[in-house]
Amino acid sequence: MRETEATTDARRAMEVCNACRYCEGFCAVFPAMAMRREFSTGDLSYIANLCHNCKGCYYACQYAPPHPFNINVPQVLAQVRAETYEEYAWPAPLAGLFKRNGTIVSLATAAGIALTLLLTMALVDPSVLYQPQIGPGAFYRVIPWWLMVALAGGTSLFAVLALAIGFRNFWRDTGGRADEFRRAKPLAVALHDIFTLKNLGGGGGGCNDKDEGFSQLRRRFHHAMFYGFLLCFASTTTATFYDHIMGHPAPYPFWSLPVQLGTWGGVGMVVGTAGLIWVKIVSDPAPAARNLLGADYALLVLLFLAAATGLLLLALRDTGAMGVLLAVHLGVIFALFLVIPYSKMVHAVYRSAALLRHALERHPTPPGNKPSDRALGSAA
Ligand code: SF4
Ligand code: SF4
Repeated sequence: MRETEATTDARRAMEVCNACRYCEGFCAVFPAMAMRREFSTGDLSYIANLCHNCKGCYYACQYAPPHPFNINVPQVLAQVRAETYEEYAWPAPLAGLFKRNGTIVSLATAAGIALTLLLTMALVDPSVLYQPQIGPGAFYRVIPWWLMVALAGGTSLFAVLALAIGFRNFWRDTGGRADEFRRAKPLAVALHDIFTLKNLGGGGGGCNDKDEGFSQLRRRFHHAMFYGFLLCFASTTTATFYDHIMGHPAPYPFWSLPVQLGTWGGVGMVVGTAGLIWVKIVSDPAPAARNLLGADYALLVLLFLAAATGLLLLALRDTGAMGVLLAVHLGVIFALFLVIPYSKMVHAVYRSAALLRHALERHPTPPGNKPSDRALGSAA
Protein backbone atom coordinates (compact mmCIF):
# COMPACT_ATOMS: atom_id res chain seq x y z
CA MET A 1 0.00 0.00 0.00
CA ARG A 2 1.16 3.54 -0.75
CA GLU A 3 2.37 5.95 1.91
CA THR A 4 -0.17 8.80 2.15
CA GLU A 5 -1.20 11.59 4.50
CA ALA A 6 -3.80 9.23 6.01
CA THR A 7 -1.25 6.47 6.71
CA THR A 8 1.11 9.05 8.26
CA ASP A 9 -1.70 10.28 10.55
CA ALA A 10 -2.71 6.71 11.43
CA ARG A 11 0.90 5.76 12.24
CA ARG A 12 1.25 8.76 14.56
CA ALA A 13 -2.02 7.82 16.33
CA MET A 14 -0.88 4.19 16.71
CA GLU A 15 2.46 5.28 18.16
CA VAL A 16 0.71 7.46 20.76
CA CYS A 17 -1.76 4.63 21.53
CA ASN A 18 1.09 2.14 21.82
CA ALA A 19 2.65 4.32 24.53
CA CYS A 20 -0.71 4.87 26.27
CA ARG A 21 -2.48 1.47 25.96
CA TYR A 22 -5.53 2.71 27.89
CA CYS A 23 -7.94 1.20 25.31
CA GLU A 24 -6.26 -2.21 25.20
CA GLY A 25 -9.42 -4.18 26.06
CA PHE A 26 -11.78 -2.24 23.78
CA CYS A 27 -11.52 -4.20 20.54
CA ALA A 28 -9.19 -6.23 18.32
CA VAL A 29 -7.31 -3.14 17.09
CA PHE A 30 -5.37 -2.47 20.28
CA PRO A 31 -4.02 -6.02 20.85
CA ALA A 32 -2.98 -6.08 17.18
CA MET A 33 -1.27 -2.71 17.62
CA ALA A 34 0.46 -3.87 20.82
CA MET A 35 2.14 -6.72 18.89
CA ARG A 36 4.03 -4.14 16.80
CA ARG A 37 6.70 -1.55 17.52
CA GLU A 38 6.67 -0.12 13.99
CA PHE A 39 3.81 0.19 11.53
CA SER A 40 4.34 -0.51 7.84
CA THR A 41 1.61 0.57 5.43
CA GLY A 42 0.54 -3.11 5.27
CA ASP A 43 0.19 -3.16 9.08
CA LEU A 44 -1.90 0.02 8.96
CA SER A 45 -4.09 -1.45 6.24
CA TYR A 46 -4.69 -4.52 8.43
CA ILE A 47 -5.37 -2.47 11.59
CA ALA A 48 -7.66 -0.02 9.78
CA ASN A 49 -9.83 -2.87 8.49
CA LEU A 50 -9.87 -4.47 11.94
CA CYS A 51 -11.53 -1.33 13.32
CA HIS A 52 -15.35 -1.62 13.42
CA ASN A 53 -15.79 2.13 13.93
CA CYS A 54 -17.52 1.73 17.30
CA LYS A 55 -16.02 5.08 18.41
CA GLY A 56 -15.40 3.81 21.94
CA CYS A 57 -11.74 4.83 21.90
CA TYR A 58 -12.64 8.38 20.80
CA TYR A 59 -14.90 9.07 23.79
CA ALA A 60 -12.46 7.39 26.20
CA CYS A 61 -9.38 9.21 24.93
CA GLN A 62 -7.75 11.89 27.06
CA TYR A 63 -5.78 13.00 23.97
CA ALA A 64 -8.83 13.50 21.71
CA PRO A 65 -9.54 17.03 20.40
CA PRO A 66 -9.30 19.70 21.74
CA HIS A 67 -6.13 18.17 23.28
CA PRO A 68 -3.12 19.29 21.17
CA PHE A 69 -2.29 15.61 20.39
CA ASN A 70 -5.56 15.57 18.42
CA ILE A 71 -5.96 11.77 18.60
CA ASN A 72 -9.06 10.60 16.72
CA VAL A 73 -8.49 6.89 16.06
CA PRO A 74 -11.87 6.07 14.44
CA GLN A 75 -11.50 8.97 12.01
CA VAL A 76 -7.90 8.29 10.90
CA LEU A 77 -8.54 4.55 10.56
CA ALA A 78 -11.66 5.24 8.48
CA GLN A 79 -9.55 7.36 6.10
CA VAL A 80 -6.93 4.59 5.74
CA ARG A 81 -9.70 2.02 5.30
CA ALA A 82 -11.18 4.01 2.42
CA GLU A 83 -7.73 4.16 0.78
CA THR A 84 -7.32 0.39 1.08
CA TYR A 85 -10.57 -0.06 -0.88
CA GLU A 86 -9.00 1.84 -3.78
CA GLU A 87 -5.61 0.23 -3.40
CA TYR A 88 -6.84 -3.38 -3.67
CA ALA A 89 -9.64 -2.83 -6.21
CA TRP A 90 -9.69 -4.89 -9.40
CA PRO A 91 -9.41 -4.00 -12.23
CA ALA A 92 -7.14 -1.18 -11.05
CA PRO A 93 -8.42 1.48 -13.53
CA LEU A 94 -11.87 1.19 -11.89
CA ALA A 95 -10.45 2.05 -8.45
CA GLY A 96 -11.24 5.69 -9.22
CA LEU A 97 -14.94 4.81 -8.79
CA PHE A 98 -14.38 4.99 -5.03
CA LYS A 99 -13.93 8.73 -5.41
CA ARG A 100 -17.28 10.55 -5.27
CA ASN A 101 -18.70 7.12 -4.55
CA GLY A 102 -22.12 8.38 -3.44
CA THR A 103 -22.68 9.94 -6.87
CA ILE A 104 -21.36 6.86 -8.71
CA VAL A 105 -23.65 4.48 -6.78
CA SER A 106 -26.68 6.77 -7.34
CA LEU A 107 -25.95 7.03 -11.08
CA ALA A 108 -25.45 3.25 -11.40
CA THR A 109 -28.79 2.65 -9.67
CA ALA A 110 -30.63 5.09 -11.92
CA ALA A 111 -28.93 3.62 -15.02
CA GLY A 112 -29.72 0.04 -13.91
CA ILE A 113 -33.42 0.82 -13.46
CA ALA A 114 -33.66 2.83 -16.69
CA LEU A 115 -31.83 0.22 -18.78
CA THR A 116 -33.91 -2.70 -17.51
CA LEU A 117 -37.16 -0.75 -18.00
CA LEU A 118 -36.19 0.29 -21.55
CA LEU A 119 -35.09 -3.24 -22.49
CA THR A 120 -38.32 -4.66 -21.11
CA MET A 121 -40.45 -2.14 -22.99
CA ALA A 122 -38.53 -2.83 -26.22
CA LEU A 123 -38.81 -6.63 -25.93
CA VAL A 124 -42.28 -7.14 -24.47
CA ASP A 125 -45.66 -6.36 -25.96
CA PRO A 126 -47.37 -3.56 -23.92
CA SER A 127 -50.46 -5.74 -23.59
CA VAL A 128 -48.34 -8.27 -21.69
CA LEU A 129 -46.34 -5.72 -19.69
CA TYR A 130 -49.33 -3.93 -18.18
CA GLN A 131 -51.70 -6.92 -17.82
CA PRO A 132 -51.75 -9.17 -14.73
CA GLN A 133 -49.57 -12.24 -15.33
CA ILE A 134 -50.13 -15.20 -13.04
CA GLY A 135 -49.12 -18.86 -12.84
CA PRO A 136 -45.79 -20.63 -13.50
CA GLY A 137 -43.42 -18.65 -15.77
CA ALA A 138 -45.29 -15.33 -15.23
CA PHE A 139 -42.01 -13.42 -14.64
CA TYR A 140 -40.45 -14.78 -17.86
CA ARG A 141 -43.42 -13.47 -19.87
CA VAL A 142 -42.31 -9.97 -18.81
CA ILE A 143 -38.52 -10.37 -18.86
CA PRO A 144 -37.29 -13.25 -21.04
CA TRP A 145 -35.42 -16.03 -19.24
CA TRP A 146 -32.25 -15.55 -21.34
CA LEU A 147 -32.09 -11.83 -20.50
CA MET A 148 -32.54 -12.45 -16.78
CA VAL A 149 -29.84 -15.15 -16.73
CA ALA A 150 -27.43 -13.06 -18.84
CA LEU A 151 -27.75 -9.95 -16.66
CA ALA A 152 -27.88 -11.73 -13.28
CA GLY A 153 -25.12 -14.21 -14.17
CA GLY A 154 -22.83 -11.62 -15.76
CA THR A 155 -23.07 -9.01 -13.00
CA SER A 156 -22.86 -11.47 -10.08
CA LEU A 157 -19.89 -13.40 -11.52
CA PHE A 158 -18.06 -10.13 -12.15
CA ALA A 159 -18.71 -9.03 -8.53
CA VAL A 160 -17.45 -12.35 -7.10
CA LEU A 161 -14.29 -12.25 -9.24
CA ALA A 162 -13.48 -8.61 -8.36
CA LEU A 163 -14.01 -9.25 -4.64
CA ALA A 164 -11.88 -12.41 -4.69
CA ILE A 165 -8.98 -10.57 -6.35
CA GLY A 166 -9.38 -7.69 -3.85
CA PHE A 167 -9.17 -10.22 -1.00
CA ARG A 168 -5.99 -11.73 -2.47
CA ASN A 169 -4.42 -8.27 -2.87
CA PHE A 170 -5.23 -7.40 0.76
CA TRP A 171 -3.94 -10.74 2.05
CA ARG A 172 -0.62 -10.41 0.24
CA ASP A 173 -0.10 -6.78 1.22
CA THR A 174 -0.69 -7.52 4.91
CA GLY A 175 1.89 -10.32 4.89
CA GLY A 176 -0.46 -13.31 4.57
CA ARG A 177 0.40 -16.68 3.04
CA ALA A 178 -1.85 -19.11 1.16
CA ASP A 179 -1.12 -22.05 3.50
CA GLU A 180 -2.56 -20.16 6.51
CA PHE A 181 -6.13 -20.94 5.37
CA ARG A 182 -5.63 -24.60 6.30
CA ARG A 183 -5.61 -23.87 10.05
CA ALA A 184 -9.02 -24.76 11.47
CA LYS A 185 -8.91 -23.06 14.88
CA PRO A 186 -8.14 -19.48 13.71
CA LEU A 187 -10.66 -19.94 10.90
CA ALA A 188 -13.36 -20.94 13.42
CA VAL A 189 -12.47 -17.99 15.72
CA ALA A 190 -12.59 -15.54 12.80
CA LEU A 191 -15.96 -16.89 11.62
CA HIS A 192 -17.35 -16.50 15.15
CA ASP A 193 -16.11 -12.88 15.31
CA ILE A 194 -17.55 -12.12 11.85
CA PHE A 195 -20.99 -13.66 12.41
CA THR A 196 -21.46 -12.19 15.90
CA LEU A 197 -19.91 -8.78 15.06
CA LYS A 198 -18.01 -9.24 18.30
CA ASN A 199 -16.07 -6.01 17.88
CA LEU A 200 -19.27 -3.97 17.95
CA GLY A 201 -20.05 -5.37 21.39
CA GLY A 202 -17.76 -2.95 23.24
CA GLY A 203 -16.93 -5.65 25.80
CA GLY A 204 -20.65 -6.20 26.49
CA GLY A 205 -22.03 -2.66 26.78
CA GLY A 206 -22.23 -1.96 23.06
CA CYS A 207 -20.71 0.89 21.07
CA ASN A 208 -21.00 4.63 21.10
CA ASP A 209 -23.53 4.71 18.28
CA LYS A 210 -24.79 8.25 18.68
CA ASP A 211 -22.65 9.83 21.42
CA GLU A 212 -20.72 8.82 24.54
CA GLY A 213 -23.66 6.70 25.76
CA PHE A 214 -23.40 2.94 25.06
CA SER A 215 -25.94 1.06 22.97
CA GLN A 216 -26.34 -2.12 20.91
CA LEU A 217 -28.47 -0.38 18.25
CA ARG A 218 -25.89 -0.34 15.45
CA ARG A 219 -24.97 -3.96 16.07
CA ARG A 220 -28.63 -5.05 16.00
CA PHE A 221 -29.46 -3.08 12.85
CA HIS A 222 -26.32 -4.41 11.18
CA HIS A 223 -27.33 -7.96 12.15
CA ALA A 224 -30.83 -7.41 10.69
CA MET A 225 -29.32 -6.16 7.42
CA PHE A 226 -26.57 -8.79 7.20
CA TYR A 227 -28.73 -11.81 8.03
CA GLY A 228 -31.54 -10.37 5.88
CA PHE A 229 -29.08 -10.21 2.97
CA LEU A 230 -28.05 -13.85 3.57
CA LEU A 231 -31.71 -14.96 3.69
CA CYS A 232 -32.38 -13.17 0.37
CA PHE A 233 -29.35 -14.90 -1.12
CA ALA A 234 -30.67 -18.25 0.17
CA SER A 235 -34.07 -17.41 -1.34
CA THR A 236 -32.53 -16.76 -4.78
CA THR A 237 -30.45 -19.95 -4.58
CA THR A 238 -33.47 -22.03 -3.59
CA ALA A 239 -35.59 -20.50 -6.36
CA THR A 240 -32.84 -21.28 -8.89
CA PHE A 241 -32.82 -24.91 -7.69
CA TYR A 242 -36.64 -25.14 -7.96
CA ASP A 243 -36.59 -23.63 -11.45
CA HIS A 244 -33.56 -25.22 -13.12
CA ILE A 245 -33.24 -28.57 -11.29
CA MET A 246 -36.83 -29.36 -10.32
CA GLY A 247 -38.45 -27.68 -13.33
CA HIS A 248 -40.87 -25.43 -11.34
CA PRO A 249 -40.55 -21.85 -12.61
CA ALA A 250 -41.46 -18.87 -10.35
CA PRO A 251 -43.62 -17.35 -8.98
CA TYR A 252 -44.08 -19.65 -5.98
CA PRO A 253 -46.83 -19.69 -3.34
CA PHE A 254 -46.43 -17.35 -0.38
CA TRP A 255 -45.73 -20.21 2.05
CA SER A 256 -43.09 -21.83 -0.20
CA LEU A 257 -39.46 -21.88 0.99
CA PRO A 258 -38.03 -19.33 -1.51
CA VAL A 259 -40.81 -16.80 -0.80
CA GLN A 260 -40.58 -17.19 2.97
CA LEU A 261 -36.76 -16.81 2.90
CA GLY A 262 -37.06 -13.76 0.64
CA THR A 263 -39.85 -12.17 2.69
CA TRP A 264 -38.09 -12.41 6.04
CA GLY A 265 -34.77 -11.49 4.45
CA GLY A 266 -36.35 -8.45 2.79
CA VAL A 267 -37.97 -7.33 6.06
CA GLY A 268 -34.61 -7.72 7.85
CA MET A 269 -32.83 -5.66 5.19
CA VAL A 270 -35.46 -2.89 5.21
CA VAL A 271 -35.38 -2.62 9.02
CA GLY A 272 -31.57 -2.91 9.18
CA THR A 273 -30.76 -0.37 6.46
CA ALA A 274 -33.39 2.15 7.65
CA GLY A 275 -32.06 1.79 11.21
CA LEU A 276 -28.44 2.25 10.14
CA ILE A 277 -29.35 5.36 8.12
CA TRP A 278 -31.14 6.77 11.18
CA VAL A 279 -28.14 6.02 13.47
CA LYS A 280 -25.84 7.83 11.02
CA ILE A 281 -28.13 10.87 10.85
CA VAL A 282 -28.39 11.32 14.63
CA SER A 283 -24.81 10.39 15.57
CA ASP A 284 -22.13 12.81 16.76
CA PRO A 285 -20.11 13.84 13.65
CA ALA A 286 -16.85 14.47 15.58
CA PRO A 287 -15.35 10.94 15.33
CA ALA A 288 -16.70 10.35 11.80
CA ALA A 289 -14.81 10.77 8.52
CA ARG A 290 -17.31 13.16 6.98
CA ASN A 291 -15.95 12.90 3.43
CA LEU A 292 -16.92 9.19 3.41
CA LEU A 293 -20.52 9.61 4.58
CA GLY A 294 -21.93 10.03 1.03
CA ALA A 295 -20.71 6.55 0.06
CA ASP A 296 -22.15 5.06 3.26
CA TYR A 297 -25.58 6.59 2.68
CA ALA A 298 -25.62 5.66 -1.03
CA LEU A 299 -24.95 1.98 -0.33
CA LEU A 300 -27.50 1.81 2.50
CA VAL A 301 -30.15 3.41 0.28
CA LEU A 302 -29.33 0.99 -2.56
CA LEU A 303 -29.66 -2.02 -0.21
CA PHE A 304 -32.92 -0.57 1.16
CA LEU A 305 -34.26 -0.18 -2.40
CA ALA A 306 -33.25 -3.74 -3.32
CA ALA A 307 -35.26 -5.12 -0.40
CA ALA A 308 -38.20 -2.69 -0.57
CA THR A 309 -38.79 -3.18 -4.33
CA GLY A 310 -38.63 -6.97 -3.79
CA LEU A 311 -41.30 -6.81 -1.07
CA LEU A 312 -43.44 -4.49 -3.19
CA LEU A 313 -43.16 -6.91 -6.11
CA LEU A 314 -44.27 -9.75 -3.86
CA ALA A 315 -47.28 -7.75 -2.62
CA LEU A 316 -48.42 -6.71 -6.13
CA ARG A 317 -47.28 -9.69 -8.22
CA ASP A 318 -50.82 -10.70 -9.20
CA THR A 319 -51.69 -7.21 -10.49
CA GLY A 320 -50.96 -5.24 -13.68
CA ALA A 321 -48.13 -3.41 -11.83
CA MET A 322 -46.03 -6.60 -11.72
CA GLY A 323 -44.24 -6.02 -15.06
CA VAL A 324 -42.90 -2.56 -14.27
CA LEU A 325 -42.10 -3.50 -10.65
CA LEU A 326 -40.16 -6.57 -11.80
CA ALA A 327 -38.07 -4.44 -14.19
CA VAL A 328 -37.40 -1.83 -11.47
CA HIS A 329 -36.46 -4.49 -8.88
CA LEU A 330 -34.11 -6.30 -11.27
CA GLY A 331 -32.56 -2.97 -12.33
CA VAL A 332 -31.73 -2.23 -8.68
CA ILE A 333 -30.32 -5.75 -8.15
CA PHE A 334 -28.11 -5.56 -11.26
CA ALA A 335 -26.86 -2.11 -10.18
CA LEU A 336 -26.10 -3.53 -6.72
CA PHE A 337 -24.03 -6.39 -8.16
CA LEU A 338 -22.14 -4.01 -10.45
CA VAL A 339 -21.23 -1.48 -7.75
CA ILE A 340 -20.51 -4.00 -4.95
CA PRO A 341 -16.74 -4.19 -5.72
CA TYR A 342 -16.52 -0.36 -5.83
CA SER A 343 -18.66 0.55 -2.86
CA LYS A 344 -18.54 0.43 0.94
CA MET A 345 -19.77 -3.17 0.57
CA VAL A 346 -16.13 -4.28 0.13
CA HIS A 347 -15.64 -3.63 3.84
CA ALA A 348 -17.22 -7.06 4.42
CA VAL A 349 -14.36 -8.74 2.53
CA TYR A 350 -11.45 -6.76 4.02
CA ARG A 351 -12.84 -6.73 7.57
CA SER A 352 -13.34 -10.51 7.42
CA ALA A 353 -9.78 -10.92 6.12
CA ALA A 354 -8.45 -8.66 8.91
CA LEU A 355 -10.36 -10.69 11.53
CA LEU A 356 -8.85 -13.88 10.12
CA ARG A 357 -5.36 -12.34 10.25
CA HIS A 358 -6.01 -11.30 13.85
CA ALA A 359 -7.17 -14.83 14.77
CA LEU A 360 -4.00 -16.23 13.16
CA GLU A 361 -1.86 -13.84 15.20
CA ARG A 362 -3.63 -14.88 18.41
CA HIS A 363 -3.26 -18.59 17.62
CA PRO A 364 0.22 -18.85 16.09
CA THR A 365 1.43 -22.06 14.48
CA PRO A 366 3.13 -24.25 17.15
CA PRO A 367 6.95 -24.42 16.74
CA GLY A 368 7.93 -27.26 14.40
CA ASN A 369 4.65 -27.10 12.44
CA LYS A 370 5.50 -24.11 10.25
CA PRO A 371 6.19 -24.98 6.60
CA SER A 372 9.70 -23.45 7.00
CA ASP A 373 10.37 -25.62 10.09
CA ARG A 374 9.26 -28.77 8.31
CA ALA A 375 11.52 -27.94 5.35
CA LEU A 376 14.47 -27.49 7.73
CA GLY A 377 13.60 -30.77 9.48
CA SER A 378 13.56 -32.77 6.26
CA ALA A 379 16.80 -31.12 5.10
CA ALA A 380 18.46 -32.18 8.36
S1 SF4 B 1 -7.21 6.20 21.87
FE1 SF4 B 1 -6.37 7.63 23.39
S2 SF4 B 1 -6.80 6.66 25.36
FE2 SF4 B 1 -7.02 5.07 23.79
S3 SF4 B 1 -5.01 4.08 23.70
FE3 SF4 B 1 -5.05 5.70 22.15
S4 SF4 B 1 -4.15 7.46 23.14
FE4 SF4 B 1 -4.75 6.04 24.76
S1 SF4 C 1 -13.36 2.89 16.97
FE1 SF4 C 1 -13.90 1.07 18.19
S2 SF4 C 1 -13.27 -0.61 16.87
FE2 SF4 C 1 -12.24 1.21 16.10
S3 SF4 C 1 -10.25 1.26 17.14
FE3 SF4 C 1 -11.67 2.49 18.38
S4 SF4 C 1 -12.46 1.06 19.92
FE4 SF4 C 1 -11.58 -0.17 18.27
